[in-house]
Amino acid sequence: MNTLLTDNFRAFSARIGADPLCIQGPGGNTSIKDDTVMWIKASGFELADAETSEIFVAVDRMAAKSEAYGAGDGTCKSTVLDPESELRPSIETTFHAALDWRVVAHTHSVAALSHVVSLAGRKVARKLLADFDPVFVPYAKPGLPLTAEILKRATPETRLFLLENHGLIVCGHTTAETDNLMQRVEGRLYRAPAHVVGAVPGAEPLDGFDWAEAESWMAMDEGVCAAITGGSYYPDHVVFLGAGLPVADSELSPPVIVLPGQGIQIRRSATSVQRAMLTCLSDIFRRLPKAWAPEPIGPEAEAELLNWDAEKYRQWLAAKG
Ligand SMILES: [Zn+2]
Repeated sequence: MNTLLTDNFRAFSARIGADPLCIQGPGGNTSIKDDTVMWIKASGFELADAETSEIFVAVDRMAAKSEAYGAGDGTCKSTVLDPESELRPSIETTFHAALDWRVVAHTHSVAALSHVVSLAGRKVARKLLADFDPVFVPYAKPGLPLTAEILKRATPETRLFLLENHGLIVCGHTTAETDNLMQRVEGRLYRAPAHVVGAVPGAEPLDGFDWAEAESWMAMDEGVCAAITGGSYYPDHVVFLGAGLPVADSELSPPVIVLPGQGIQIRRSATSVQRAMLTCLSDIFRRLPKAWAPEPIGPEAEAELLNWDAEKYRQWLAAKG
């Protein structure tokens, strides 16, 4: 069974996992399958460790595929083949299992995100990628809701999905094919990052915080500052940094605070993943032209990601002002 999980596939997974312009922290996932078995990244693990740790878990491919179509609870936990394994398959296992391609890779590509968060950007991406026949998938919560949106639109020929406000899925018959297509897509969507000046404001940071040197530019740019404090643009931002970015500390202990016109502060205790997510936000906005208005996922989608009751969440937002 282990012969399916090739060195090539591990190396590809580790390479994209180590590239912060493809994947940040434990985000993104890769899978390799035959008709009966699929190896998929385990939840909570980082693709960057694909060559040095056991980050993949084998599932019953057909059982996982039927979860994509409504059998089971969609977590694919019961499809894990090794009863001794404590690894849980990625929350995104169902679409990997349902797509009839041997090697599937899903990334939170900065180049893709800088296009798919806006209508204008999506139009440009559609043109740039026309010969790959990409399928654009509207935003849905990762897990079964996203899988359902993907399957509604996929054809047996679809090898490239652009997930609006989320990222990319690239498919191939072999690791080399998937790798090659991903590199071509990244090349087409490449946008040079705007030059920004890293600066630390003169003022002392709040107690327990440091100024975020490389990212503080976003607080200085009026349009970007309004965008990042006014909404969230992709799921992992909400999962790791909370909804949008707050402009003051609160009982929620936000890891990042924006002081409009001054700078951005990051809590000293922030994790490496939270730091990577702040860098990701800056990487995206450095590539977003002023004319492309970014569309936030909205309060309901944020509440879903935080597993908050939507109505309570709206009340909390309203009270927050
Ligand atoms: Zn994802």
